[in-house]
Amino acid sequence: MHAAAFARCKLDARYVAVELPPEQLAPTVTRMKALPFAGWNCTLPHKIALVGLVDELADSARQLGGVNTVLNDRGRLVGFNTDGEGWVWALREEFSLDVRDLRVMILGAGGAGRALAKQAALERCEKLVLVNRTEATARELASSLAPYFDTQKLLGADARLKVTPWDEALIAKELDQIDLLVNATSIGLKPGDPAALPARILQPHLCVYDTIYRPAKTKLLSAAEEAGARAANGLSMLLHQGALSFEIWTGQQAPLTVMKAALRKAVAG
Ligand code: NDP
Repeated sequence: MHAAAFARCKLDARYVAVELPPEQLAPTVTRMKALPFAGWNCTLPHKIALVGLVDELADSARQLGGVNTVLNDRGRLVGFNTDGEGWVWALREEFSLDVRDLRVMILGAGGAGRALAKQAALERCEKLVLVNRTEATARELASSLAPYFDTQKLLGADARLKVTPWDEALIAKELDQIDLLVNATSIGLKPGDPAALPARILQPHLCVYDTIYRPAKTKLLSAAEEAGARAANGLSMLLHQGALSFEIWTGQQAPLTVMKAALRKAVAG
């Protein structure tokens, strides 16, 4: 998608993939700083380590606790995180909805679940329910987010941030009062995986966002459709985090249509 964007904007730039073991990250960053890299993206497992390797952190990286985008500003490295904001744009595109108005349930409290929960908190969503197989991780995450939910919106402060155990009956009950269900677990990545939640507990009023984009239709998304809910996969999140990175590096508006077409082709291929 970046190659397509550079071509459309007539930028003499290339996007290359570099795979590194963790111990090579620091020396590679030092070398890349001296080379004509305008910046780079970074993914697992390096997002957290990069926080300590850049010269300056933008608010987004400080708030989400990880760096996925680096700008090389004439040898000064600035770290950003476009994952959370990319997700917010994805929800606008897919459902025409703003996180700040929503009652959100997030399944998963790993890297992606944490970033999305933090973004939902920063956006001051109406309600956030965290569900994770390892409940203690969700509880830890909830404690770190509690200060964002201490004000009353429509609901009282207590009801705005919750942890629900991974229990079908309890989740089903909670879903009555949820607008947006997000799968940020890895259930659905592998062909034999079940649906993260079954159709019988999903409801037509829900918007279901699966952060997984390959396969394009996980069993959760099929279950959502079966239940009459709106459903979207994680390709839009990938697109928008990339578009925001492009804008950071180039100072130009990202050519979204071109990027989306290139991304769809790459993912399908
Ligand atoms: P992590 O390994 O950090 O976290 C995995 C999460 O999945 C944990 O919460 C884990 O729970 C849960 N999990 C794994 N297996 C099961 C299971 N069998 N039952 C219940 N829960 C389970 O991964 P990431 O957070 O980095 O990635 C999570 C998902 O987000 C992936 O599917 C990835 O594709 C997607 N993603 C999409 C992006 C996009 O741009 N669209 C960007 C980044 C990620 P526990 O804590 O109990 O182990």
